Amino acid sequence: MSTLIIYAPATGHHKPGHPEGRHRLADLLPFLEGQGVLADVMHLAEPHQASLADLRRVHSEGLIELVRRVSQHGGGMLDHGDTYATAVSYELASLAVGGCLTAVDAIMTGRAVNGFALVRPPGHHAETSSISGFCLFNNVAAAARYAQANYGVKRVMIMDFDVHHGNGTQDIFFQDESVLFASTHLFLPRMFYPGTGGVSEVGIGSGRGFTLNVPLLPHVGDAGYGRLFQEVIWPKAKAFAPELILVSAGYDAHWQDPLAMAGLSLTGYAHIVRALVTMAQKLCHGRILFVLEGGYQIDALFYGILNTLYALLDQDKICDPLGSMPQAETDVTELLHLLKERHLIY
Ligand SMILES: [Zn+2]
Repeated sequence: MSTLIIYAPATGHHKPGHPEGRHRLADLLPFLEGQGVLADVMHLAEPHQASLADLRRVHSEGLIELVRRVSQHGGGMLDHGDTYATAVSYELASLAVGGCLTAVDAIMTGRAVNGFALVRPPGHHAETSSISGFCLFNNVAAAARYAQANYGVKRVMIMDFDVHHGNGTQDIFFQDESVLFASTHLFLPRMFYPGTGGVSEVGIGSGRGFTLNVPLLPHVGDAGYGRLFQEVIWPKAKAFAPELILVSAGYDAHWQDPLAMAGLSLTGYAHIVRALVTMAQKLCHGRILFVLEGGYQIDALFYGILNTLYALLDQDKICDPLGSMPQAETDVTELLHLLKERHLIY
């Protein structure tokens, strides 16, 4: 199997004490090297910077200008919350987008079957014209639009398993029937960021039915996630018949993550990732690109990425030194019923 890795750790995009900093990826390659997985990967490709045209497919001129201006002035805050830029963030955020586009090129031309864009800063909270949640440019959305514009891909599925709702990606494709956006996320309005992503948010206009939100209560854990993927996400994906699958891969649904409490273990994550790789093999010639989003507990992040690479390489290995959540798992039967009713899955 040929698997491509893009590595863009954005060490210059950093704010001391901020959870989304350079420490997230700085030591990843030596870790993967130590696990012996890098030798099996096709190659590490150098990312290139995305062009303005690439950014304009998903963002307003105002958003792009804001990032450029704040960077040019030496950095500062981009929203009223936690999203910062440094003097080099415009360049590095463009590189994160460009890395995803490089990976799309490799997959769509057959040079790689699948890949993982290990990039920062993350992107799934960046809306068409609004920035939030540590995200500058929407990497995965730009990759979907790029595949459509350059390779004539008609249907792209974006699966977002970051523990936070991918409100940015939803916003960009809410009216669009050519992109199926599916998201599993913790949903506690007014208590947990960003507060969007309820079952009733299914898209509008011709995009109605092409947004699938799976809002979770705390501590769903491995079995619940497994059932949701099997009984809701799989049939929805099969009916959509994507030509390419992109994954917003956030590892903050791990039970040890300091920002959330979704209750997944590394083993649970590995099963989800395998289900997605199998889905790509059955539906779209194996074409799947993982794009890194969140993940703030470094062991969960690193082993989560390692297990994802095992799945992409079709290797039957799972590494889980962190074990399972100590709490009992929350039952998802009622949620499954609601989702099936809303999305006409029988
Ligand atoms: Zn997240």
